[in-house]
Amino acid sequence: ITRHTQHFPSTFGAKIGRVPVEIGRRRLRIVVTGGAGFVGSHLVDKLINRGDEVIVIDNFFTGRKENLVHHLGKPRFELIRHDVVEPILLEVDQIYHLACPASPNEFEILDCVIYKTNVMGTLNMLGLAKRVGAKFLLTSTSEVYGDPLEHPQKETYWGNVNPIGVRSCYDEGKRTAETLTMDYHRGAGVEVCIARIFNTYGPRMCLDDGRVVSNFVSQAIRKQPMTIYGDGKQTRSFQYVSDLVEGLVALMESEHVGPFNMGNPGEFTMLELAEVVKEIIDPSATIEFKPNTADDPSKRKPDIGKAKELLNWEPKISLRQGLPRMVSDFRNRILNEDEGKGI
Ligand code: NAD
Ligand code: UDP
Ligand code: UDP
Repeated sequence: ITRHTQHFPSTFGAKIGRVPVEIGRRRLRIVVTGGAGFVGSHLVDKLINRGDEVIVIDNFFTGRKENLVHHLGKPRFELIRHDVVEPILLEVDQIYHLACPASPNEFEILDCVIYKTNVMGTLNMLGLAKRVGAKFLLTSTSEVYGDPLEHPQKETYWGNVNPIGVRSCYDEGKRTAETLTMDYHRGAGVEVCIARIFNTYGPRMCLDDGRVVSNFVSQAIRKQPMTIYGDGKQTRSFQYVSDLVEGLVALMESEHVGPFNMGNPGEFTMLELAEVVKEIIDPSATIEFKPNTADDPSKRKPDIGKAKELLNWEPKISLRQGLPRMVSDFRNRILNEDEGKGI
């Protein structure tokens, strides 16, 4: 028996007589776990728009139905309220596994939940991929590099992570998820790929999820001081969400396992980021310094040479181009909130 004939999707499409969406390509049925979240909902838009069938699995921990409201009722779209920690039976061709609370606000409150989601949730989705012969994509994170001793970070770097710190539920959870993914690939022949995502921003981020871009943008719009943790000299590289979605799809469609760094190599200190937000939203915005959180990585910047070479992918949208695109979404949502409160 060849691997191909063991694969469920090779007969799946033919059996129900699917209509090809592009010349030479049949319509795929794709699961997006965490599809009601920030990145997931943009990915769903892309997959639905290109003609595929999408099933979202989400328990709405940090995601919102509003992010998907424009797809509700479409015949090629289905939304299932489900926690990936529990097993689920579905028949699909591809699995984009994004489900995981990713906001720093949740790290201390939801620590066990985050770890369980990363381990048991990933195990279940890999079990599903194995059973039906689906291709599996894991959204890992630059946090697997911890507080990196190598700069910029290449995929070959093994990282510098505190296994017992407040962020461990997230970074060690993702490291375990990567291990499981590679074990299912080597041991059970599951087709897999891994993306290591660097800080990403854009419309539909939670307004108050504690991440730096959403915090600064919300604060500047609300005329509150922008909170800089520590001295503000730590660096991050900020990627606009549509660039990431292009990268995830390119990876899923490729033959490569990865891991692949996906991020924008433009590097900014938090002080510089605050300046850009000021420039774009409100030149009179102010800054307030606050103590930094434990184990905060002092610098981060992706080396994306591997993705450029093998996936022909690189981000196109700079921070100054991307930020204004999230500002109108944030303004509208903040306005609606204020109206709800009678302000
Ligand atoms: P998000 O919080 O907006 O989305 C995560 C989604 O997963 C939410 O809709 C949430 O409700 C859902 N979810 C959480 N736990 C679940 C569970 N047990 N069962 C079902 N659904 C569950 O975050 P995001 O920024 O869109 O992140 C998506 C993925 O990308 C995450 O895996 C995250 O770790 C990864 N990532 C994101 C970034 C970034 O900067 N946005 C960076 C690195 C990695
Ligand atoms: N699983 C799932 N859906 C499926 C197949 C498996 O949720 O369609 C879950 C299954 O319940 C198990 C996990 O995935 O908890 C791993 O499955 P696998 O078959 O690899 O392991 P086993 O069940 O043999 O321990
Ligand atoms: N940060 C900040 N002010 C905020 C939120 C975050 O200065 O209001 C800092 C935080 O300490 C970190 C950087 O911004 O150094 C990026 O934080 P974020 O939580 O967005 O991403 P991550 O730490 O996961 O890269």
